[in-house]
Amino acid sequence: MPSINEMRALGWQDPRAPDYLSKHTLILKRHGISLRVHEDEVGIVELLLDTLVDARSQVWLTARADDWGITVRPIRGTTASADADDSWSYHCWNAVDLNAVTNPSVSSPAAGHSDMPHRAIHRLQAQIHEMSRGKVELVYGGDWSSPFDPMHFELHGRREDVAALSKAIHAGKAKVPVRRRTVRLGNAGHAVRRVQKLLRDAGVRVDGKLVKVDGDFGEITERAVRKFQAKHGLVTDGVVGSRTYRALGRAARA
Ligand SMILES: [Zn+2]
Repeated sequence: MPSINEMRALGWQDPRAPDYLSKHTLILKRHGISLRVHEDEVGIVELLLDTLVDARSQVWLTARADDWGITVRPIRGTTASADADDSWSYHCWNAVDLNAVTNPSVSSPAAGHSDMPHRAIHRLQAQIHEMSRGKVELVYGGDWSSPFDPMHFELHGRREDVAALSKAIHAGKAKVPVRRRTVRLGNAGHAVRRVQKLLRDAGVRVDGKLVKVDGDFGEITERAVRKFQAKHGLVTDGVVGSRTYRALGRAARA
């Protein structure tokens, strides 16, 4: 667990500064939830939320008051003074807790109190490691010395490296490896975002307009998919499976 001085050495601000929250953090809204996050981690948290939604569903990601982002505080349970060398929580900088009610902190992951999609999370950890060439790590579940904390995600790395990766992901410039998951009306997440981008690149228009890349597979996206399928001799079911993906890939590159 870091001290403020250790984090400062990595370029992160002192969270005790009076204008810290207003100057360096913002409310991220996505998939119906709002989280206070550091400005330099927005894209990475967006990808995290998309990954969870891809693996579960939008409904599963709770919009209740059990999601927490930045709160300036020492480690829970400690009575640390305001000393910059004491242990402070990663929640001062870049930790988020998601679905806390269904994922309470437990003494062992085997206790089974978590409905987090662990395989998808491990894949994302590997992706973030790879995309940042080992400069940024997504740490999940807290550290080894405390009870497993399945709601908890934090980022480790120099601020400039976290910011660079975050920006690239947010701008769609990072090569995020995405499984070509079959998507249809009602789905949400990164795979949907990718399909919408392919539809745009392929120039598919609905009522004269290109599809919005918002990660939500709504009616407009479905109409665009059907239109594309009809034009390419595919079954016009509005579902993006392997054949439609292949055709979209070809059309988007053309
Ligand atoms: Zn936490």
